[in-house]
Order: sequence, then C-alpha cells, then structure tokens
Amino acid sequence: MGVSRRVVLGFGSAAVVSGGWGGVAVAGEPRGGAVVIRDARVFDGWRVLPGRRWVLVRGGVIAGIGVGAAPADGVPVVEGRGGMLVPGLIDSHVHTFEGSGADALRFGVTTELEMFGEPAGLGAARRRRRSRGRVGTADLWSAGNGVTVPGGHPVAPGYDFPRVGPETDVDAFVADRIREGSDYVKFVYEPGNPPERPLPSLTRRQVEGTIRAAHRRGRLAVGHVEKLKLYVEAVLAGADGIVHAPYDAVATDADVAAIRRTRSFVVPTMSVVDWGLGARSLLEDERIAGWLSPTQQYLLSQEPPDRPGRPDFLGIARANVRRFHAAGIPVLAGTDAPVRANVSGASLFTELEHLVAAGLSPAEALSAATAVPARRFRLADRGRIAVGYRADLLLTSADPTRDIHNLRTLHTIWKNGHQVDRTPPKE
Ligand SMILES: [Zn+2]
Repeated sequence: MGVSRRVVLGFGSAAVVSGGWGGVAVAGEPRGGAVVIRDARVFDGWRVLPGRRWVLVRGGVIAGIGVGAAPADGVPVVEGRGGMLVPGLIDSHVHTFEGSGADALRFGVTTELEMFGEPAGLGAARRRRRSRGRVGTADLWSAGNGVTVPGGHPVAPGYDFPRVGPETDVDAFVADRIREGSDYVKFVYEPGNPPERPLPSLTRRQVEGTIRAAHRRGRLAVGHVEKLKLYVEAVLAGADGIVHAPYDAVATDADVAAIRRTRSFVVPTMSVVDWGLGARSLLEDERIAGWLSPTQQYLLSQEPPDRPGRPDFLGIARANVRRFHAAGIPVLAGTDAPVRANVSGASLFTELEHLVAAGLSPAEALSAATAVPARRFRLADRGRIAVGYRADLLLTSADPTRDIHNLRTLHTIWKNGHQVDRTPPKE
C-alpha cells in the first residue's frame, strides 16, 4: 500500500498495530524470473497431472510443461523429485495493512482479494499486479471502501470513510467507489444481533441498487452477509458471491436450491469463527512457527473475545458449507485476516483444513484457493499451472491432494518466476 497504515481496521476485533518495517512492495526488477523445476508432480489448479513433470518458466510466465528430460539451456534447475507443484494461492477475503502482503507471500499466498479497505494504495497495487518483476508482497485486488451505513458494520473507530444515508444516490455512490479504485463492489447487509446488539444496515432496496450499480459498470457485487435469511435475499437480488457462510442457522433444502439457482459463490471464512483453533495449530507447528513474522505471532496469539452462550458458529458454518458444496455451489477459500486470530498467509492453510473438514476433497480445497477464485474474480493470468500463466508457484515436500495438512510442508515459493525469500522480518 502506498500509505503507511499502522492501525488495522477494527473489523469487530481489537485494533492492532502492525510491525514497523516498511517498503516491502517495491517492484525493483522489471523482468520476470526464469527457472525449470523438474521431476515434480503437478496440481494444475483443477487436478493432478499424470506422472512427473518439468515446468519451465521464462520471463515470469510458464513457458512449457512436459515429461522426460527437462530443457535446461541456461535456466536455473530446481529438483522437484518427491514434491508437488501447486499454483500460488489466492485468499479471497482479507483486509490489508502495512506488511500484511509480505506475510501472505512468505506462506505462498501470491494473490489477495481485499473485501473492504483503504483505497489510497490501489493505483500502486494495480501497477504491481501487472508487473512480472521481483516483488516482496502478494498481488492485491480490492473492494476499496465498501457500501454500508453510518454506525453499521464495520465499526472502525478512527477510520472514516463515505457511507450511505437514507438520501444517498446509491448508483452515484458506487460510481464513486469505482472511480476511487475499487475492483469490485462489497456491500454490508448486517443487522447485528438484535435485540441485544442491533446494528443499522443497508435496506434491501439499497442492496438491490448497489448490485445493479456494480453490474451496470461490469463489476462484481459481493456481500458481507452472515445471517441465512439475508444471505438468500442478497443472492436472489443478484449478488455474485457472499464472503461469509451463514453462521446463524443451517440452510434448508429449499434455501440451498434457491442459492444454487443464482449461480453465486461463497467464501465461507470458517477461520474467523473457529475461535483460535486454527491459530493455535499454526503456533504449535514447527513447520510454520519459525516463518511467522512478529506481527503474525502477535495476531495469532490473540484470544478471541469470550461470548458466553454464543452459538456454535463453526459447526453451523461447516454444516452450511457441506450442504452448499454437495449442491454444487462454488466455494472459494478466504480467511478474513486479520480479524480474530487470523493472519495473511498461514491462516489460509487452516481455512483449507476447515474446508476439507466440511466435505471438500483436498484437491477441491486447493481449487478453492487457486482455479476457482481466479475464474470467479476473472483473474485471467493466474490460479493455474498451464502454459502462458503467471509463474506463481509453490513446491511442497508432501502431497497436499492426499492430505491437505501436507500444504504445511511448503518449502519453496516463486512469485513471477522469482524465488521468494521466506526469512521473516525481525520486527
Ligand atoms: Zn472481512
């Protein structure tokens, strides 16, 4: 981001202060990297290719894939035997702050989709994601400022942004967001938890107007919706996707059928309702802990606020994901980092583990973080290992399509064909 933001938006969590290092987002080297990785198995974003393959990268792009003797001619050779190549991961729900994109990249998340955030740095983000140079941060697409009402979610003390009042022309409001740099439009349809904790929210008519305004301009409209009833309303109104699973009730067969017919997708963000379960497993894992930055360690160590009598959000979300997936509703992986003991990068591993616990196969979970979001968010150059695609690549020691926990054996990352330095910052 072009702007130093030391305070993370308080999306329902305590505000946190990011680490003090800066300037990680420099595209210093204009040229893409070159390498050949040989004798690896390849998960191409949809499936495991038969046999062992070489993958040749030139100019930051995948230039060839084959079996047998790898072409070398001057390109550095990496031995991939015993390992698996996976496309760079896409996290379909984050909020960024200074240093978060570097934290993402050091865990193989090469693309982040922000679902509400400061628009000031989006011009730089757009230039960076077109570059094939050596970058120190994940590429970013963003909703920029979302569409919500005064006093509504997200409650973000100290951070001011435009909001929709009763008299606001929603179409003009959305046009302003796109002019500000929003790649897609995020709306908030969230009444809080009445009667104790109600929140003002957009009306149904305003949600419909927002979706129409986005579509009129060729942009996706995605929603923050956590309540099942409103979820169904939002997708029937034409939302392209909802960036949480419903946490309040398990969808009926009629709900699932109605949602499926809309062809919308879901980003369940189960890691944000697992109340620290995923965070603890990352902190305790020696394959992970040594690579965490101090900011990631700090965030993962947060105890989510205790809410006596709260519903089993994770159990309800998991039941919904199971039913949605079984019905063929596309599932995309997203963390909602840095909310509630979630971090850019590592927490996507636990989100994929949650998706498998909810019934996706490990390969389907990997697709949910690669080919599926690339297709749904129209990211034409990534999410696949195929000739012509951007060389955002991961190499793991063990096979994550057999056991999704094997993604934690990730040991080498290439962004734009350049190997990523995984050394965490000291502060
Ligand atoms: Zn969020």
